[in-house]
Amino acid sequence: MTKLDGFSAAELFERENGYAYNDFIILPGYIDFAPEDVNLESNLTRNIRIKSPMVSSPMDTVTESKMAIGLALMGGVGIIHYNNTVQEQADQVKKVKRYENGFINEPMVLSPSNIIADIDRIKENYGFSGIPITENGKLESKLLGIVTNRDFDFETDRGKKLSEVMTTDLLTAKVGISLVEANNILKTSKKGKLPIVDNEGRLVALMCRNDLLKNREYPLASKGARKQLLVGAAISTKDEARERLEALVAAGVDLVVIDSAQGNSVYQVEMIKYIKKKYPQIDIIGGNIVTEEQAENLIRAGVDALRIGMGPGSICTTQMTMSVGRAQATAIFKTARYSRKYQVPVIADGGIATIGHISKAMALGASSVMMGSMFAGTAEAPGDYFYENGVRLKKYRGMASQEAMEAGGSKRYFAEDAKIKVAQGVSGSVVDKGSLFDYVPYLIQGIRHSFQDMGARDVKTLHEYLYSGKLRFELRSLSAQIEGGVHDMYSYKEPKYM
Ligand code: GDP
Ligand code: GDP
Ligand code: 5GP
Repeated sequence: MTKLDGFSAAELFERENGYAYNDFIILPGYIDFAPEDVNLESNLTRNIRIKSPMVSSPMDTVTESKMAIGLALMGGVGIIHYNNTVQEQADQVKKVKRYENGFINEPMVLSPSNIIADIDRIKENYGFSGIPITENGKLESKLLGIVTNRDFDFETDRGKKLSEVMTTDLLTAKVGISLVEANNILKTSKKGKLPIVDNEGRLVALMCRNDLLKNREYPLASKGARKQLLVGAAISTKDEARERLEALVAAGVDLVVIDSAQGNSVYQVEMIKYIKKKYPQIDIIGGNIVTEEQAENLIRAGVDALRIGMGPGSICTTQMTMSVGRAQATAIFKTARYSRKYQVPVIADGGIATIGHISKAMALGASSVMMGSMFAGTAEAPGDYFYENGVRLKKYRGMASQEAMEAGGSKRYFAEDAKIKVAQGVSGSVVDKGSLFDYVPYLIQGIRHSFQDMGARDVKTLHEYLYSGKLRFELRSLSAQIEGGVHDMYSYKEPKYM
């Protein structure tokens, strides 16, 4: 056979139309591996690799610490929204960073004269209660004992001093011990905590047995060198963002998303340069953009990844109101092909409504996808479930909806100081999806099947097939799209997830 069937992406996207995910289909490749053999590891940014290419949107109905922890445990990353005070956002980041650890270099410490109620307070704020006790109640002071739940859970007098309940018979390890050696002690000691001390017996760090269990349970988890979960946070391009950034960096944030609906602006370019100079260790996701020219400006300023999408979001009214934007499939292909020359990965943001859309985004060159509505109905999204016509729902709203802007979300749209705020999004609800811990594994398995059908074992191979023209595409007529959906049924039951 001399001529390949179908069209390359380059041929398809050279046309005058802009295409959406549903406008095209990918022709099948050759299968010589199982879905379990598919490796979805991918670059989220220039420097950060993740095992599940999924990111949750920085929206106040999508990502706070619970979402970010859950998603990171399963190999993705959550971006904490900034429709809150600086303190609130930094606290969310801290919660994620504290969730899992190797060595805990700054553990909470108390002194013998503190009381049980002090531990109750720590437990309420941070979720743990195993507290080392040192002479002066600080780190790098002589370790005297440790107090854990079991030392006081039946104690009715919460005013009792910790000196009266602490365990003083301690198993410790010396500073300098490797993570692997310390883990071995934890595994064999049957104790929940391992304090690390220096030669004079002063506390320098702490380790928790439960972290070993978390590590075993979540092999895909996105973690940094200190074995803490990765987390991102969104900021605006306004001056306020500099103060926010400082607090976020102090809280341990790994990457920031400069959140702007039209990212090609002098404000964003200046912000990127500022961050790169002041915090070179932090990766920056710039955007949003949809054209090569926009990509060029932000890449030149120094971004580590680009967020693609202007108008495809499920809650978004930008294309109707502003008449500016681009169909998402075209936007991804063009920007990804351009950015690849500079090794800058792109994130397909908005408009993902099915597993198939995730694979399509990646088949067009995206290294990961960002999702709002897909995650907004899970138990880990902020807010409570409610019922409407007997259906269990959760609230989901655009960050530029009237409602979210009134709550402070207009920073993204350069409309913060405007007297009249023009909405670019709606508020509403999405259906209950259950827990992220059931949903994400389903998504991952679905994407693996899709990669198998395309004949690509991993993301790198898929992108090689895309750019070499081996991956073949075809446009779908309207009737082809109808044919590709469920049709001619008297009734049917939709699968739990799509
Ligand atoms: P590597 O890629 O081979 O370095 O594997 P990992 O980074 O997963 O793990 C290196 C060592 O750190 C192994 O002994 C793991 O058991 C341990 N480890 C990984 N994650 C954690 C964690 O969250 N806490 C602790 N205490 N140890 C961990
Ligand atoms: P505890 O027995 O109540 O302390 O709780 P666990 O041992 O079940 O879990 C403690 C979890 O909180 C582990 O995953 C730790 O990595 C994490 N953590 C983060 N910072 C701290 C800290 O300062 N002290 C303690 N005890 N745990 C911390
Ligand atoms: P979804 O996954 O629900 O289709 O889209 C989520 C994405 O929509 C977000 O990541 C963000 O880029 C975008 N977005 C969030 N809020 C708004 C809004 O109010 N207006 C517009 N135009 N886009 C929004």
